[in-house]
Amino acid sequence: MPELLSVVVPAYNESPVLGEFHRRTSEVLCATGMAYEIIYIDDGSTDDTAAVLARLRGNDEAVAVIELSRNFGKEVALTAGLDHANGDVVVIIDADLQDPPELISEFLREWRNGYDIVYGRRTDREGESWLKKSTAKWFYRVMNRLSDVEIPRDSGDFRLLSRRALDALMSLRETHRYMKGLYAWVGFPQKEVPYLRQARAAGETKWNYWRLWNFALEGITSFSDVPLKMSTYLGILTSSAAFLYGIYFLLRTIIFGNPVAGYPSLILVVLFLGGVQLICLGIIGEYLARTYNESKSRALYFVKGYHPSRSRASAEAESRINL
Ligand code: UDP
Ligand code: MG
Repeated sequence: MPELLSVVVPAYNESPVLGEFHRRTSEVLCATGMAYEIIYIDDGSTDDTAAVLARLRGNDEAVAVIELSRNFGKEVALTAGLDHANGDVVVIIDADLQDPPELISEFLREWRNGYDIVYGRRTDREGESWLKKSTAKWFYRVMNRLSDVEIPRDSGDFRLLSRRALDALMSLRETHRYMKGLYAWVGFPQKEVPYLRQARAAGETKWNYWRLWNFALEGITSFSDVPLKMSTYLGILTSSAAFLYGIYFLLRTIIFGNPVAGYPSLILVVLFLGGVQLICLGIIGEYLARTYNESKSRALYFVKGYHPSRSRASAEAESRINL
């Protein structure tokens, strides 16, 4: 059996770009000379993505389509695709052509050099605002300071995984799937390939600042317990300050007597401590909510329809006959 390459493509309302994406990707994959399958995951799209995918599958026997029962988000859509990937090696790529499919051949070269995970690293974020660039930079800085795994900067899901790296990744079934952290966490020899990230070919990004903020929270809470410990140190700090303040008052009262004053400072301290306590409770709440979600250990996704690639289906039938 020749080596099989699986390409996993999550798609949520991507019908305007899918045709072009498929054409460009197929071209690259044909040129590699490997057997391949392209697995599209329709993540509960509300436009005609499903119809476009059905048409692609009708015209190309390398196409597999997984339809999820609703929109589960990119992380889970990806997981569904990876669960169904049959390849000896897997490539994850966005449908919007921001990740150039042409880079796949370079990924494969590094894979043959013995790397298990080969990821694209953006050298420039074309079409992104200054604000997004600088928040991204700060996020990586904070994240890597706080967490125990080093998350490579400016890398996304665009990457290649060997079979053993994929099996390792798929054995992690947590509900809160911060993928970038998980890739780093499984280890194995990893290699980065720099590339220029393009602006979206068509359609719209599904991200806004609120989602990015929650994504950042997800990353930090999934890979670090430093915020939880911070409240302890904050507590020690404020109580030490209170102790010193107490001594100061004691001495002042002994030396100068006790004029009744200090209402503003009193209210200030009360408000300040109230705020600190609420923040600490909030941090505990973030972790508690995640523990709660994980403890339910629900299925990650449900599949509404699975249409394997026809080449794959016929290969399976053949191997059954040969048995
Ligand atoms: N995506 C998905 N489910 C979602 C949101 C996004 O499968 O709920 C897919 C989307 O179709 C695209 C990829 O994830 O292929 C990246 O999404 P997007 O381009 O919106 O993110 P960005 O490139 O801006 O990070
Ligand atoms: Mg995109």
